[in-house]
Amino acid sequence: MQPFVYTALPARVIFGSGTISRISGELEALGCKQALVLCTPFQKALAGAISVSLGTNSVGVFPHAEMHTPTEITERAIELLKIRRADAVVSVGGGSTTGLGKAISLRTDVPQIVIPTTYAGSEATPILGETVSGRKTIQRHLKILPQVIIYDVDLTLTLPVPLSVTSGINAFAHAVEALYAINANPIISMLAERGMASLARALPRISGTPSDRDARAEALFGAWACGVCLGSTDMAIHHKLCHALGGAFNLPHAEMHTVLLPHSLAYNERAAPAALRLVAKALDVQDAPRGLSNFIGDLNAPKSLREIGMPYEGLDRASELAVSAPYPNPAPVTKTGVRSLLERAFHGHEPFTER
Ligand code: NAD
Repeated sequence: MQPFVYTALPARVIFGSGTISRISGELEALGCKQALVLCTPFQKALAGAISVSLGTNSVGVFPHAEMHTPTEITERAIELLKIRRADAVVSVGGGSTTGLGKAISLRTDVPQIVIPTTYAGSEATPILGETVSGRKTIQRHLKILPQVIIYDVDLTLTLPVPLSVTSGINAFAHAVEALYAINANPIISMLAERGMASLARALPRISGTPSDRDARAEALFGAWACGVCLGSTDMAIHHKLCHALGGAFNLPHAEMHTVLLPHSLAYNERAAPAALRLVAKALDVQDAPRGLSNFIGDLNAPKSLREIGMPYEGLDRASELAVSAPYPNPAPVTKTGVRSLLERAFHGHEPFTER
């Protein structure tokens, strides 16, 4: 076995059905009296119902979370938090809402309870991506890590199938890159294998029957496992590409991961064969990049950057952004290599591995 270093992240995870009834108890255990409930405009009704159920433990809802955590929204939320004297945040939603809770907590030290309703996995990471004037900045600090995660499978039943699939592939990407990370280790690799296998089993079942509670539970558990992978290792070319494209072109996050992941796998296929074998095993295929591409196609998810809004004339700039300050990656990150990866992904061509 290779030598390794592993640092466990502190986490309190409550997983089940109907678990949102435990928010007040968790607030009390944190020593908090009243929380501001956060959500996106779309999930205002759900957050409102949770706020009502919390009674005097809630000071109300801030329903303005947005993708990529723009700092001006964070500032507005903090103003409200102070006016209403909230001493905690309860983030109800996907990665966008979790991001807002993290940004508030980082600046004010209030504890966070996260109730995830997608598979993005942000709740399990000490990472915060924010956008300041269209540029995405990423920081990693233990202060960012939420104190409590409450997974309530019931809240994921409404996640539309297309977003369930792309969000699941977003989670899958965290596990893939943890396997070939510069600081990969056997503990996180075990979680990565388990997370990928759960998602590979659950997503086709959810696609056929969105109300399948067991499949939803399996996907949500997989999302947590993959989130821990993201939070515990350094990511590589795939996440760098997504951060560069997400910040500069405001592409939808989960869809972008879904389109790019088979191509990122192909890029690293020769340099990280052991990791790719584990990905292939989880998917029960022979060839990880093409097997994943078929898996995504079978679930009717997007396969080209063009269809998710990437402008063709942006590909050169995207390549430059992706190779500037690259993340450590098994295969050398070159501008021509990245440009050709993006060209293929733009058109929705099959992933290509140079032999
Ligand atoms: P999202 O949070 O933007 O949600 C997408 C839409 O789906 C929103 O309108 C939301 O309200 C809606 N939605 C969420 N759950 C729903 C449900 N159960 N039923 C119906 N609608 C629902 O999307 P996301 O993909 O979860 O998160 C993307 C964001 O998270 C990006 O900003 C990304 O950078 C960030 N992210 C951060 C990390 C991290 O570790 N820092 C990890 C992953 C993602």
